[in-house]
Amino acid sequence: MRDVCIVGGGVAGLAASIFTARAGLDTLVIDGGESILARNASLENYPGFPDGVDARRYLQLSRDQARNAGAEFELGHVTHAEPVTEGELEDGFVLETEGGDPLEARRVIAASWPNSDYLEPLDVGRMQRGNKHFVSVDEGGRTAVDGVYAAGRIADEPHQAVVAAGHGAKVALAVIYDADVAFYQDWVTPEGYFTGRDRDVPPGCEEIDDEERLERDERARETMHEAFAEPLDEQPTMHPSVDDGED
Ligand SMILES: Cc1cc2nc3c(=O)[nH]c(=O)nc-3n(C[C@H](O)[C@H](O)[C@H](O)COP(=O)(O)OP(=O)(O)OC[C@H]3O[C@@H](n4cnc5c(N)ncnc54)[C@H](O)[C@@H]3O)c2cc1C
Repeated sequence: MRDVCIVGGGVAGLAASIFTARAGLDTLVIDGGESILARNASLENYPGFPDGVDARRYLQLSRDQARNAGAEFELGHVTHAEPVTEGELEDGFVLETEGGDPLEARRVIAASWPNSDYLEPLDVGRMQRGNKHFVSVDEGGRTAVDGVYAAGRIADEPHQAVVAAGHGAKVALAVIYDADVAFYQDWVTPEGYFTGRDRDVPPGCEEIDDEERLERDERARETMHEAFAEPLDEQPTMHPSVDDGED
């Protein structure tokens, strides 16, 4: 049984997975398609990219970052979720996927815009607006069912990538808190930042010396040089109702 299963490997789900995996929670991301952001033609309002970024490249880099943090990935469309033991939510949840083996997790984060049909058996509190369903959550992304969370657009957050990423991170922090993991903040600080004040390095934090800092910077620069060296072949995904011009 996994500590956390994140349904949806889009913007919110990937951000959540980076935080839960870095906090040491055994994290599985299951994704059944592609992020709605793959329809974007140029992502120009995500901080850190002064002239914008190809949205598919941003998604690929986020997936790489989640993998580096220790998250694992599976392809699959989740169709059904229910408690492993009826009435015993602390036993975790079993998720069924189309054609795959069932997956078990103590906690589930639904980051699966626009689909939440699989949550119906759990009665988490879905609300319909137009032809879309949203999941009601508290300020930490907790639904009405202990152990089930929702993040990103599906939790009725504004339809913007940086908001979805931030919300994914915030919901992950609630999961980490609820899982009773020893955790202060996910911070990497210079050597001596805590210990120089006779403090232990708090759980979740790391102090690194200058040599290590420069090594990490070099690795990061190499990764980004390689990632941005060539334009991507992939085209943005068009809205399904746009006529492709073929008979
Ligand atoms: C055309 C277009 C252009 C946009 N441009 C911008 C922009 O310029 N700037 C900006 O800030 N925002 C933009 N957005 C909005 C941005 O893409 C979304 O707000 C953001 O992607 C929402 O993140 P999310 O994680 O909630 O959903 P998504 O990123 O869509 O991720 C949801 C994931 O869940 C998966 N999934 C769904 N159901 C299941 C299931 N049952 N089982 C398993 N996996 C499932 C999907 O395959 C998907 O990968 C744009 C959106 C569109 C449509």
